[in-house]
Amino acid sequence: MISRTEFNEAREQAAKMIVESGIKLTQKEIDIMDVADFGMSNLKKEGAQIVTFFNTSRVSAKVIALFPFQTEPEHWHTAVGEDPGKEETIRVVDGTVYFYIPGENTMRCGFVPEGKDGSYTVRNEIIMKPGDQITLQPGIKHWFQAGKKGAVMYSFSSCARDTMDLFTDKSIVRTTVIVDKRV
Ligand code: ZN
Repeated sequence: MISRTEFNEAREQAAKMIVESGIKLTQKEIDIMDVADFGMSNLKKEGAQIVTFFNTSRVSAKVIALFPFQTEPEHWHTAVGEDPGKEETIRVVDGTVYFYIPGENTMRCGFVPEGKDGSYTVRNEIIMKPGDQITLQPGIKHWFQAGKKGAVMYSFSSCARDTMDLFTDKSIVRTTVIVDKRV
């Protein structure tokens, strides 16, 4: 849950970061930007701001902005019906991204959000700078975190069905609840 004010500020700040990275956005794209708190009510720590350029039944292109040290929680893209699941390429445009995939634990630069040890199980660290990219096959667990200046990245993929994504943290809710005032 986030407040309307938090939601609007996040959109505004993310739009500024994306435009400053050199990516043009229309006002309409800004107006429909997804601000995801993953039901954690702690947007600046676990969350993501996502603009969808298009998402057809076959192809999707998005841009993701992460605030300084903001973390997109560990998840994977599962098969849906005939679709084997989303194949996704993340390409960094601006800032540093600490990216985690299965393999030997080499985590040095990023960190697991406080109290969330069990929700971040893959810890093979890849440090990504602008121009770096990684392709994830369906079903591969991954999570990522921005460095101290925040980060902007593209997500190119097969059809995205965000609400079907699976998260290690079972308390995650993919749809953000926005309230007028947080109690
Ligand atoms: Zn993903």
